[in-house]
Amino acid sequence: MRQQLCERLNGGLHELSWRKLLKVEQEIVSPQSAHIQLRSLGGREVLNMCANNYLGLSNHPALQQAARTALDRHGFGMSSVRFICGTHSVHRALEKRLSDYLLTEDTILFGSCFDANAGLFEALLDAEDAVISDSLNHASIIDGIRLCKAKRFRYANNDMEELERALREARHFRTVLVVTDGVFSMDGIAANLPEICDLAKRYGALVMVDDSHAVGFIGPGGRGTPARYGLEHQVDILTGTLGKALGGASGGYVSGRREIVEWLRQRARPYLFSNSLMPALCEASLVAIDLAENGDDLRRNLVARTHQLRGALSNLGFKVSGSDHPIVPVITGDAGIAVQIADFVLARDILVVPFSYPVVPEGAARIRMQVSAAHNAVDIERVIVAFRSAQMYLKSGARQGERGEPL
Ligand SMILES: *Cc1c(COP(=O)(O)O)cnc(C)c1O
Repeated sequence: MRQQLCERLNGGLHELSWRKLLKVEQEIVSPQSAHIQLRSLGGREVLNMCANNYLGLSNHPALQQAARTALDRHGFGMSSVRFICGTHSVHRALEKRLSDYLLTEDTILFGSCFDANAGLFEALLDAEDAVISDSLNHASIIDGIRLCKAKRFRYANNDMEELERALREARHFRTVLVVTDGVFSMDGIAANLPEICDLAKRYGALVMVDDSHAVGFIGPGGRGTPARYGLEHQVDILTGTLGKALGGASGGYVSGRREIVEWLRQRARPYLFSNSLMPALCEASLVAIDLAENGDDLRRNLVARTHQLRGALSNLGFKVSGSDHPIVPVITGDAGIAVQIADFVLARDILVVPFSYPVVPEGAARIRMQVSAAHNAVDIERVIVAFRSAQMYLKSGARQGERGEPL
């Protein structure tokens, strides 16, 4: 049996490799930053265009110092879950700080946002309830919903007519929860939160937003998608990560109404059965939130660099999804072309990653770049030049030197 399993897996891996769909991990031998060193290139430095390091805090000296001091003061690990003997006062301090920052009543930490989403639905909803979910929601939301007994409804991405139809169908359920990513990470587009909140209010439903790709850099003070639209008080449940803009180490949270958070402390399985966060990580995250809250300069540069990259690539004729988010997806359609461009650009010492099925729909392959406040105008200009060269190279290959329309 064991041999049969291994043969089956080997077959699967060979097929992925043959179809050029095998994910190969690049080993970084430097700190995470706008410029990193890759083992595969013998430690050569490349420009990093694919980290969730939106504010450039992953290797910020103030975060490092906070973590170092905390290591000395609080030690390394907690060796317990929160309710046994794993709650350090820095956990509560971070939960309070996140609530202050996000303008919510209370917050509960998880080992990751994946865990937060995996534990939330089952704890709050059962067969008498309904959950209505955007079709492009993050995998952790999809899995979390699978784990609960609530009736499931799905609407096409940001399709408000379909959402309203689902709300109408679900109106006899006890609790109805509409769930959306604040920003859809493969496309760099925001949820239509104003209309979602309007509709939810009209049908008496609750709203949950996973704002992992927004908190720290979208909206006033970087408070995220609800703040961007002035809807902080209409969102009942917020989930998010410490693993992206807020320092990028790890950790996640659920923030919102006090009773919801209190109940999750009693019932959310990833909270009850998984170890609590390292205190040093929490101390550094407190500093990350301070830097984000007072990070208007960082956000100004992030907006300018995003505008620079999106504008130039669009002018070159690339199909760039979304309108203003630092996630900059260049849609190639064909997976092979995405790989070719990524290889070409990496040969110019710029790291970008191609995405294809099953991470994105078949025929919608893309290169997804992410701009950081740690990038400067020269960095972004280098990316633009590399894409222009890739475009010319592909055309000359495809048409024997003929010059014509853009890619
Ligand atoms: C990244 C991400 C997650 C997972 O966050 P982790 O803390 O890394 O587990 C969850 N939801 C969304 C929308 C994300 O973008």
